[in-house]
Amino acid sequence: MRAERLQVLRGLLCALVIGIAAQAATGAAHAGVDSETAERFVERLWPEAKARGVSRETFERAFDDFKPDPSLGTLNAKQPEFEKPVGTYIAERVTLSRIETGRRKAAENARLMQSIEARFGVDANVVLAIWGMESAYGASKGNRNVIRSLATLAMTDTRRATFWRRELVSALVLVEERGMAPEALVGSWAGAVGHTQFIPSTYARFAVDFDRDGQRDLSGSIADALASTANYLAKSGWSRGLPWGFEVKLPARFDFSWSTPGRTRTLAEWITDGVTPGPAMGNVGLGTPLQLVMPVGAAGPAFLVTQNFKAILRYNQSIAYALSVGHLADRLGGAGAFQTAWPTEPPLSRTEREELQRLLAARGHRLGDPDGVLGADSRAAIRAAQRALRMPDDGHASAALLNRLRTVRHSSL
Ligand code: CA
Repeated sequence: MRAERLQVLRGLLCALVIGIAAQAATGAAHAGVDSETAERFVERLWPEAKARGVSRETFERAFDDFKPDPSLGTLNAKQPEFEKPVGTYIAERVTLSRIETGRRKAAENARLMQSIEARFGVDANVVLAIWGMESAYGASKGNRNVIRSLATLAMTDTRRATFWRRELVSALVLVEERGMAPEALVGSWAGAVGHTQFIPSTYARFAVDFDRDGQRDLSGSIADALASTANYLAKSGWSRGLPWGFEVKLPARFDFSWSTPGRTRTLAEWITDGVTPGPAMGNVGLGTPLQLVMPVGAAGPAFLVTQNFKAILRYNQSIAYALSVGHLADRLGGAGAFQTAWPTEPPLSRTEREELQRLLAARGHRLGDPDGVLGADSRAAIRAAQRALRMPDDGHASAALLNRLRTVRHSSL
């Protein structure tokens, strides 16, 4: 019986491999996956799934009639958080329609929001904002087969294969736990599920059954989804009663080294240094540790953020995302737009960041191999170069700096 099933599985895999070969032939995203790779993939997946409590029945059903999703390669290559100007990213997400819908949803779910805030201590507007950002308040939760998506990604995205594979196993565990049909687990192309788009491993760790019907159902239950989001933020270090952060005005003369990630000062210290909190500050004590965030450098808005901003970043490791959530939450609570305008210059591409690192290294700054990742060393080198070029030394990798470095390359600077 088991051997027969395995045989069927092998047959399906051949079909999958033929599908992949066809994709490769047309130049689509699945080049590089041959029959052996795919067969080995599912063979090696089974013991891992079994060890996590997935039954053979669930496993076989999950891969029954399995075909990779050819559209995923293109979607996976796009990462809007890192391509668009931050201001554009935020403006596209914190729209008037999303603010209005959010206020309506807040009114419709007033009692639920109150009980979630009381239980988890997380600002209801932040939970609403994540709901609005992730699925437009439930309007677009995604209807792709999560197991199909994650299996495709685990096989084709070599850079993040371990991540996708772990999520795939978690998805199988989830299906087993909930006793649901594998194909009924639907979500985004990246395997995120429900109103607030939890990836399967997050679902497993942080989802709660808030409406007490015996199921942790993040797709069918608004109460479960929003409470789970609050639970996730609470477990990520959310501090009750503290805002995520607020926009500030910096003084004309300012030491931009204070915007180094990880450096914090108290509100009292920031104010002493000439930093002026904006109207959306909320209730922050003078002794609260705050970090300065300048997403686009001295040319754009500056923010002081609390540990709650870090909790939002656990949801999605993007400053633009976390600022969108924070700002949408503020707007739902009645606050106004940003005080300082966002420049529309796009962030440097990876190739440009690598070029910047090479140019900085050529000027004698000690940097490792150019990798396009601007860590502490790169930021320090950028600031030194900015000072030498008499530019504001905000440590921001701008096109202006790259252009200056290109032109002064052979000069004595
Ligand atoms: Ca439930």
